[in-house]
Amino acid sequence: MLSYLHAFHAGNFADVQKHAALTLALAMMQAKKTPIACFDTHAGSALYDLDSERARKTAEADSGIQRVWSVRERLVSDDWQAMLAPLRDLNGNRERVQRYPGSPEWFLRGRRPQDSFTAFELHPSEGDRLDDWARSGAVRVRREDGLQGLLRCLPPAEPRLLVLTDPSYEIKSEYADVARTVQKAWQKCRHGVYLIWYPLLTSGLHQALLDGILGGPVRKVWRNEVMLDTPPERGMVGSGMLVVNPPWGFDQRLDAMMAEVCRPGCLDASLRSDWLVVE
Ligand code: SAM
Repeated sequence: MLSYLHAFHAGNFADVQKHAALTLALAMMQAKKTPIACFDTHAGSALYDLDSERARKTAEADSGIQRVWSVRERLVSDDWQAMLAPLRDLNGNRERVQRYPGSPEWFLRGRRPQDSFTAFELHPSEGDRLDDWARSGAVRVRREDGLQGLLRCLPPAEPRLLVLTDPSYEIKSEYADVARTVQKAWQKCRHGVYLIWYPLLTSGLHQALLDGILGGPVRKVWRNEVMLDTPPERGMVGSGMLVVNPPWGFDQRLDAMMAEVCRPGCLDASLRSDWLVVE
């Protein structure tokens, strides 16, 4: 029984990091014309209302995308534009972001006609909303397990691959499952770019994901972690991204983006990044 709903967390500091990485990866991969097969293994909804009761209950976006939005004119890295342009399109020049894209919408807005996009979602109401949204675009929605579904789709017909894996980790075994799936996916499609989000937890549960990747055959894994300056005593104290096969220069460009916002008064966080696994 799935209980996690991303509407309570949309636009938080972890979404900022994840969607910055996603929009940057898409933009950099599109430097070549060849088609990309895009997969979102845990899609959630396409669009979130940050004024909704759910979003306001936690107000997580207030210390996430709203902070970034408030300094948008001062951001130096051009790579922020891939995130800011859709936000401007959806929100005009409002003081606060109200309409915030979930990963399927970021994919849809970033993809070109030659790129395909498949989104997996298991939650019944999230799946319904995604189906409604997908009717307006060229998107394949699959209401099945995203990890098993991805493996069934690989290798794709397109010459290149971009995968976002962003589970809710409601089940403890998901950390090890994600690592196993990435290994199997990599064996089917070694040149694919895999973006994997994970929470940094006081319990250390996320270590199972990192250990699983470290203990397997996958090479060239970049790690980017955002750690809250004032973390809660228990629970999520930061947000991590693993990027398998990042495009050349992606590491410096994502670091440059995140360094601009990982500071006091913005995300109130610090940044750490390194190669978890070298080439
Ligand atoms: N990727 C989204 C974004 O960036 O906007 C947020 C996704 S949210 C963290 C995780 C989603 O995965 C939830 O909507 C949840 O219902 C869904 N989910 C949970 N288990 C799943 C599974 N095994 N396969 C596919 N989707 C699943």
